[in-house]
This record gives sequence, structure tokens and C-alpha cells, in this order.
Amino acid sequence: GSQAPRRGVRTTCPYCGVGCGVVARPDGAGGTAIAGDPRHPANGGRLCSKGTALGETLGLEDRLLHPEIDGRRASWDAALDAVAEGFARALERGGPENVALYVSGQLLTEDYYAANKLAKGFLGTGNIDSNSRLCMASAVAAHRRAFGEDVVPGIYEDLEQADLVVLVGSNLAWCHPVLHQRLLAAKAARPGLRIHVVDPRRTATCGSAELHLPLRPGSDVALFAALLVHLHEHGHADTAWLAAHTEGAGAALAAARPIAAQAAALTSLDPALIARFCAEWAAAPRVVTLWSQGVNQSSAGTDKASAIINCHLLTGRIGKPGCGPFSITGQPNAMGGREVGALANMLAGHLDWDQPGEAAALAGYWGAPRLAQRPGLKAVEMFRALGDGRIGAMWVMATNPAMSLPEGEAVRAALAAAPFLVVSETTRRSDTARYAHVRLPALAWGEKDGTVTNSERVISRQRTFLPAPGEARPDWWIVAQVAARLGHGAAFAWDGPAAIFREHAAVTGLARPAARAFDISGLAGLDDAHYAAMPPTRWPVPEAGPGTGRFFAGGGFPAGRARLVPTPFRAPAAAPDADFPLRLLTGRLRDQWHSMTRTGAVPRLMAHVPEPCLTLHPEDAGTLSAGELVVAETPTGSAVLRLALDQAQRRGTAFAPMHWTAEFAPAARINGTLAAVTDPVSGQPELKHAALRVRAY
Ligand code: SF4
Repeated sequence: GSQAPRRGVRTTCPYCGVGCGVVARPDGAGGTAIAGDPRHPANGGRLCSKGTALGETLGLEDRLLHPEIDGRRASWDAALDAVAEGFARALERGGPENVALYVSGQLLTEDYYAANKLAKGFLGTGNIDSNSRLCMASAVAAHRRAFGEDVVPGIYEDLEQADLVVLVGSNLAWCHPVLHQRLLAAKAARPGLRIHVVDPRRTATCGSAELHLPLRPGSDVALFAALLVHLHEHGHADTAWLAAHTEGAGAALAAARPIAAQAAALTSLDPALIARFCAEWAAAPRVVTLWSQGVNQSSAGTDKASAIINCHLLTGRIGKPGCGPFSITGQPNAMGGREVGALANMLAGHLDWDQPGEAAALAGYWGAPRLAQRPGLKAVEMFRALGDGRIGAMWVMATNPAMSLPEGEAVRAALAAAPFLVVSETTRRSDTARYAHVRLPALAWGEKDGTVTNSERVISRQRTFLPAPGEARPDWWIVAQVAARLGHGAAFAWDGPAAIFREHAAVTGLARPAARAFDISGLAGLDDAHYAAMPPTRWPVPEAGPGTGRFFAGGGFPAGRARLVPTPFRAPAAAPDADFPLRLLTGRLRDQWHSMTRTGAVPRLMAHVPEPCLTLHPEDAGTLSAGELVVAETPTGSAVLRLALDQAQRRGTAFAPMHWTAEFAPAARINGTLAAVTDPVSGQPELKHAALRVRAY
């Protein structure tokens, strides 16, 4: 009560990929006041319901506070020895393919870097993948094949400067609320700004849109093929730009034409609505097409993202104010994982196995004796390999695959049978941690210190404003301790996150072709004091001087030319049939985050949607009535949910949120009911779609 207010600590929200700046002010009496940071470029002081409630999520009730071996409290020394021995044994028995790390967009970049360096550099395995595989791997793959590198060309201001913003598979109002607020404020100031929503569901985001295209689930490629052909036939292709900076337009158009001819049938949209969408897109000089998980979490996710990028490349609507294809990520540090190579098919610093000399340059810089020779297993394949006995030691950090991966029963069986499983966690509320042989307590938001990168390439600091509870430690420290026990101490002898950040920044300058976009080598000499005070900083930050806000205005693609990619049409893998007549769609709720370990502790957030439910159109409910418990069955799993009926739900479809874990509602885990079907290019699972039947409980 009588304590004077303490100085605020500038940090970054731990939830979504908008990456809002937060000022945290501990009151000295156990509480923390949270406010938006008015100086942060992502939010300018705004926060959403989840960010505002962060102060109420800092309790220690459910925290894992001490290392444990086989469920018993252990010393750090004993636990770290056990991890090192478990991994050494697996390496000895089965070589580098026999070990795996599964990490998370909840990690800070420095933690992520350390884990990747250990796996790829010193365990010698490509088997490190991130839960970002479930989030935006398809966007990464589409960026790489279009541009030659994983780059989001634009910045948030482009949404405010556009004439038309198209939101595809994105419930921006709920999932990225502050960016949605910015968009609405721009529209209020400039009513000419138009918004189109492409989404099978009529979501909260549709409320502010001029046009909603409720297309058949999974049919996005057909809509954007129709747009590509329309743009070309109506003279909107920028032929000079195409000739100077791109290739593949002819092949992309040839592939698009037969799909465009059937667009109405494939999307089930009124042809007049498609025509209006195409005409408005063509007429708007400045267009941003923003997409999220409705595009990415699909067995055709990479082609969907490519179909969007093709339209921007064809018309040169990229790299200019108010223009561009824009992938928005789910997690606070999804981009950071992409930067350090924590996806199985990438190396640190956007270095690439396929580019001559790059892997060797990295191995030389790290002093790594046996850098992984090839990409490793992606998330779904990795857990299949665990189930098949092909992985002898696995380390899961800051994520809950027992709850989030498809075909959850098989994943849980694989975890239960794992010869050696390590879980680093902040919480006891983890469906995965219960299977672990060794549990390691990690620092949480407010306790840890490092950086994250948001969806517009802004690197922001997450700073410490709370003491480390119990014996919890930073993830990078835990990794370095294990590395030292495996005999690699010299390569992991960091004294804090600033030293790791410098190394990470230096890696981005290795073996550098002039055009590689991700370059923060200008930050490699940052001293500890400047790292501590680092303001939000957008990459690139090359050594030569300040970078640009947007990429590709005048070409300058990492691959030399950008590539328009032919995108064949593929429907979702599971079609409804007589046994499973409905389509299940999944997604987020406004006030919950992932598996609710934080947001589930805040009553006013829980009040928005207090229990897991399944929403149907009333005419699809048959004899079932609203409020009753129902069993939602797919061919690969089932969940028990409360039925809700809504006229706005598309006929023939059902919606269920993805947040509930065993801790909150054991029978309501939705992702686990889905089939483990993945995109052939990105390896991202089709988490948005399944065939479904519903019966009384
Ligand atoms: Fe946090 Fe995202 Fe909300 Fe911003 S919009 S406060 S980053 S959850």
C-alpha cells in the first residue's frame, strides 16, 4: 500500500506475434501494474484484453520450481548430469539421428539460438524443430520459394496506408487484436480504406469489413487463382516490373487458368462476389493481403500462401507503402525461431545447406566438429519417429505437444514409451511434462531476459522485472550446462543473453551474398549496456549502416529474381462423407492463449467463453439442443464439448477452440482429434480441418 511506485520496466508481451511493448511496474507488494508502452512501434501504448491482464498471470501456484528426476526433486547438478548422460547414451547407440529437440516460439531468441547450436552444431543432428511448424511453416516455405529467403516484405504501417486490406484465414479482431485496432483507427481516419475478409467463418473480424467471402473451407487457392487470371486479363500485370525482377509468371498463369474457370464451384462462392472481389483488388493501387493460420494450417498451406504472393508479384504491389503480402505469426517469437534456425530444415542466421559454403562457414564460426549434414525431422515426423522407436532421447522445451499435435493419442503413446524424455517447463500444467524422466524448471515471462522478433521484423527486448522463483533458470543456461557436460563447454561459455545475441548477430554476417535479407551483423558489437537498453529495432541492421523498413521495392530479391509459383488446387485431405458428414474448423478465442497456462488463471478472461464448446448451425444440429454435452468424433479421435448453436455458423461446418488441455478439460483436446496430414512442402499439419460427426454424450 504505502510503497512508492517503482520505475517501469519496458518489455514485450509474451502472447501473439503483434509483439506489443509493455511497461511492467512491480508495486513492491507482490503485484505488478501493466500498461502499453507508448514508445513501442507495434502498439503505441495499446494493449488487448490478454495483454492488459498480464499482471494477473504472475502467480507461482502452478509453477515447476525445482528439477525433478523420475518425479522426485533433484539437484540441478544431478538433473543436468542425467540429461547429458541420457543424450550421450542415445548418441552412442544410434548416432545423431537418434536424438531430437522439440522447441517453441515461447523461447527467447537467445534460448532458441543456444538450443539450435547444441543440436545442429554439437549433437550433429538436424532433428530440432519448433512448434512454429504448427504456426507458420507454410508461410516460411512460400517466402523461400518466392523470394529465395524467409522474409516478410512489409511493415504494420502498410495496413494503415493501404486502400484495401484483405484478411485471409485470419480472425484479426481476436487473434491479433492490437493490429486490428490499428487497422480500424486508420479506417476511421480515412474511410476510403476498405477491408475484405476471406474466411469460411463469419468471425468478429467481419464486423468491420465491406466484403466477406465465406468460401468453402480450404479453397483459397481457387479464389487467388481467379484473382491472378483476372489481374492479368484486365491489364493489371506490371509487365516492366515482371520482366526486370521476376520469373515464372507464365507458368503460374497457365496453372491458374483452369482453376480460375472453376473458381465458383470450388469455393462455392457466388460468381458475382468473386468478380467484385477481383475488381476491387485490381482497382486499389495499394493492397495488403494479410494471412494467418487459416492459410498456413493446411495440407495445401504453402500453395495457398504462394497463390497470394503471386498476385502481389504480378502487379508489383510489394515493397511499397501500403502494399504487400503479409504473413502474421501466432507466437511472440515465431520469427526469432526462423532467424536462429530452430526449424529442422533451416540453419542459424538464414544460412542454408543448399547454398555453397554456408554450412561450412557456420561450422567454422562455431568450431563445431560435426555440424548436421542435412535437415532433420519436422514436428509430425519427429513424433512418429519417437513412436516407432527411432529416437532414443528427446528434449521438449516450452511447449506441450501432447496437447497441440494432431493424432494426440499416438503422440501421447510415443511420449509415454520414450526411452529418455526431458521437458523444460515453467508450469506443472503440461500434458507433456507428466511423461518426462527429467523435468527442468525454466524462467517465465518477467523473469527471463532476452529478445523476441515480431511479425514486422522488429526485435524487442523482453526484460526481467521479477526475481527468479525457486530454482528456475534461463533456458540458455540449461542448454549451456548440458553442452558443457557433453564436452563442449568452450562453445557455450556465455555470461548472459547479451553475449549470445552478439554471436547470433555475427552469424548473420557469415558467408554473406550481397542480397541476403536477414542481416543484423551491425549489432554484433553491441556491448552489454547497449543490449540492456536496446530499443525496438527492425531488421535488417547491416554493418554498413541503417537498413530499410520495407524489402523489395526495387526488386533486390535474395534469389536475384522473385518467382511466381504454379499452385495446383488440392482440397483438404479429409472430405466429409456419409459417416462423417460435417467439416470441423478449429481456432482461437479472443481471451485465451494457447493451452491457457496463463490466461486460464484469470477469471475475467475465462468469463468470455468459460468452457470448451462446439458451434453448429441450428439446421445441422438435428435432435441435439444448445447447451447439452456432445461427442465430436473425427476418424482419428473424439472430444466432449458443450454444444452451441449459431445462425452465423456456415451450414455443414462446426467450430471448436483449440485451447483446452487435460488440466482444464481432459476430454476436450481438439488438435489431438485431427489427422496428422501435412503440407508436402512445409510439413505443417492440417490443424484447421477434419471430417466430423456429432452425437449426444
Ligand atoms: Fe499481447 Fe498480442 Fe494483445 Fe499485443 S495484441 S497485447 S502482443 S496478445
